[in-house]
Amino acid sequence: MRLSILRVCPFLLLTAWILSAAAEDSPATGLNSLPEVEFSRLSQRDLNPLGEKALAIHPEQWKHSETEHFIYHFVHSYVAARVSVEAEFNYRVIAKELEREQPPGDIKSHIYIFERAEDWLQFQVFGKLEPWTGGIHSVGSLFIQRNPAYKFTNNSLGHEISHLVLHRFYSEGIPRWLDEGFAQYSSKLAYASYQRARNYIAKPHSEAIASEDLIPLATLLSMTYPPSEHVKTFYDESERLVRFLVATDKRSFLALLDALGRHQPFETAFVRNYSGNFISVAMLDQRFRDYASKDLGTTLQQADNP
Ligand SMILES: [Zn+2]
Repeated sequence: MRLSILRVCPFLLLTAWILSAAAEDSPATGLNSLPEVEFSRLSQRDLNPLGEKALAIHPEQWKHSETEHFIYHFVHSYVAARVSVEAEFNYRVIAKELEREQPPGDIKSHIYIFERAEDWLQFQVFGKLEPWTGGIHSVGSLFIQRNPAYKFTNNSLGHEISHLVLHRFYSEGIPRWLDEGFAQYSSKLAYASYQRARNYIAKPHSEAIASEDLIPLATLLSMTYPPSEHVKTFYDESERLVRFLVATDKRSFLALLDALGRHQPFETAFVRNYSGNFISVAMLDQRFRDYASKDLGTTLQQADNP
């Protein structure tokens, strides 16, 4: 298989330690289950060869279902139900941020939810993937492992969903800083919104970067893979840059995203779309350095008497 179609996202690995074994919704007490759909009756097929590899692992275990924007392949319905709620919630937040919506009947993204560690390991071998990978998105499909006994308590699923949604709208690809930065930005937004819906006072938490740790802007913009020695800085700084560009002018950001989605060079696309705010990328560099190291004073705390 061609490894070039793979885009391995180390973000899930980076945040895997945040996983919490806290009180969990059990099948007996928990969320609604997803109505199962026979494989042959799913509205769409996944053309990604990795999907076939996934379903070949203990083929008898896989069940299938779908919601408005996603198709799920899973073992336990209550695990998939939780994923589906978060996936559709994130979809809505991202589509609203992008001011885009897919027409009815458009392509859905496939999400494969592995439960057993040994199956996940086997899949990684099949897919020739590095064993440390926490999650894999590949040409618009997502492969994750979710242990039913654990629950994600952060924005990591939302981050992966954001990649899927961006792929729907920009299937020819966008620069890595923008893909990862927007995934962080929108998933933090969605996670805070999700918390507020559950009576928590929450604002998206954006990490400040000490000026001496900053990756130079020109370097960040040209990176095609997070640098292994500065993975966290790469994610934090990319998120800050997206946040800064959105806060400066949302319309300009969306126009810049479209231009970069058509593979135009950053320099020309930026100067054209942000001409009201900046005269050059050097000016952006200067202002962004100040913004990147700022503490934005974000909070996450439980409301009184939820
Ligand atoms: Zn990512």
